[in-house]
Amino acid sequence: MRRGISVSPGVAVGTAFCINEIFVNPATQHVGQADTSAELAKYEAACEQAKHELLTLESAINAQAGRDAAAIFAAQAAILRDAAFTNNVRTWIVEEQISAQAALQKLLELYRNVFSQVEDAYLKERLDDIRDVILRINSHLLERPEAAPEGLEGPLIVVADELLPSQVVSLGTMEVQGIVTQAGSQTSHAAIIARSRGIPAVSGVRDILRHVQTGDAIVVDGKEGRVLVKPDAETRAAYLKLEREFFDFKDQLVENRAQPATTGDGTPLELLANINSATDAEAAKAMGATGVGLFRTEYLYLMHPVVPAEEEQYEEYCNVIRSSPNHRVTIRTLDLGGDKTVPFVGRGHREANPFMGWRSIRLCFENPDFFTVQLRAILRSAAYARSLGGQVRLMFPMITALEEIHRVRRLVSGVKQKLTKDGKRFADVPIGLMVEVPAAAVSINSMLPQVDFVSIGSNDLVQYLMAADRDNPKVAHLCQPLAPAVLQVLTEVVRKCNAGGRTVTVCGEMAGQPRAFALLLGMGVRSFSMSPAFIPYIKECGRHLSIAEATKMLQHALTLHTTRKVAHYVTEQLKRLAPDFARLDF
Ligand code: PEP
Ligand code: MG
Repeated sequence: MRRGISVSPGVAVGTAFCINEIFVNPATQHVGQADTSAELAKYEAACEQAKHELLTLESAINAQAGRDAAAIFAAQAAILRDAAFTNNVRTWIVEEQISAQAALQKLLELYRNVFSQVEDAYLKERLDDIRDVILRINSHLLERPEAAPEGLEGPLIVVADELLPSQVVSLGTMEVQGIVTQAGSQTSHAAIIARSRGIPAVSGVRDILRHVQTGDAIVVDGKEGRVLVKPDAETRAAYLKLEREFFDFKDQLVENRAQPATTGDGTPLELLANINSATDAEAAKAMGATGVGLFRTEYLYLMHPVVPAEEEQYEEYCNVIRSSPNHRVTIRTLDLGGDKTVPFVGRGHREANPFMGWRSIRLCFENPDFFTVQLRAILRSAAYARSLGGQVRLMFPMITALEEIHRVRRLVSGVKQKLTKDGKRFADVPIGLMVEVPAAAVSINSMLPQVDFVSIGSNDLVQYLMAADRDNPKVAHLCQPLAPAVLQVLTEVVRKCNAGGRTVTVCGEMAGQPRAFALLLGMGVRSFSMSPAFIPYIKECGRHLSIAEATKMLQHALTLHTTRKVAHYVTEQLKRLAPDFARLDF
């Protein structure tokens, strides 16, 4: 058994699928002598396709974002032209009579061994390039690249060092039942996506890839943060039972989706969804959300090698609006940087502290070309939402200083003028700020008059308040929404927003965690935005609490001076008030 951080509750029992490696079916690993030429031909064709793909990417990105941005693909194409690199594979196919895939696997292993001796960060990144090239060739050897590797049976548990958002997107078509990562934490984007799909997940499991191979039986316990590799029959049966119970519990709660969300004493609550795509918007509807409180638009960009054009963005926003509950969508402008990078911005630009650097709104201000395109597409889609009786709200991430709100307002006015001049239909939208930076939390009073609504991005706010990287398992004990300092700051922000007459939503992951939810309720938050899968739980949890109880709970929690004491206290209270919910917290 190995331990990590629980990032998405539930239990999954299945077969490991280690990504970032090549799966070779042992039964077809060796080919007869007669088949080596066929394998060689397959390998050559796959190399050609990979080369073609890289050159296409290079020229598209060169045209759009310049040579620096395209350099990565040029470098990878050069690796592919290197005879030493490709000859190894040819030799192994012929001499060892193994399949092209088995030879590529061997090549990957060879480079991993070489690079494992290297400390230099720059050189280590070269391994990433080599690995990308090998995996790209491999993808052309697969019959159906989007399917699970042939020969793998059972529900799949994806095991990876770290899941990049773009990789999670491409896993969409597989039947993934669980996720385990070596890196990452509760608020890393892989974790957020796992939760949005209701997939049990554990992160920060050190060295798990050394202990598990594709095809191994594996159990993920997302609640306890445990991973069991090759469990014995008895353990497996016990976990299968837990898995079934968890699904039954979930199914039972989903049946409440049509009922209005209120507290036990009848105070109405707004339960909104955090989404990344139109598919998530459908899930939000199915789970009973009444709108979308956070549409993370970067996923639209992460899937594109180049900046999506205005029309394409407009279509996608309309798509999301059409699929969303009540056609109410809060669209957040591009929040790239930190752990979310795309090929066309910031390539070659390295920072020692990406989370404190040139990310999010800061990066958008310096790229007015694509920022303006996004604002145009959003304002136009707002007219579409209105025609359906819904509403688009526009929200800006990572706001740190008042000047940034002024700047955003000027940009939006400029875009409106230009749209009018171009004869394009658009609608006015409420403008909101995300409180994610302590500076914004402290000076919220000066910002309130400039915005129509506020949304607390607690994932970032907690990491910045606690100076603890949200993706670093080593400091996960500090990056906690129940930390006394966090509770104090949140209480103040919520109080000021309510006093200033601005709606405040919490859209960080804590909104979907029963203990944090109870305390937020006590602070006066009535609007919560979370992964769709959590809406039924939080709705049910709300029914077990009254405002008076939540307020009392918060008041007592504020007198406690350690995270552990707060967590313990709220757990005990919830056990008493809403016994089933203890198992859902994470
Ligand atoms: C947050 O920081 O809480 C948030 C909702 O934004 P993201 O998780 O996308 O950074
Ligand atoms: Mg954020």
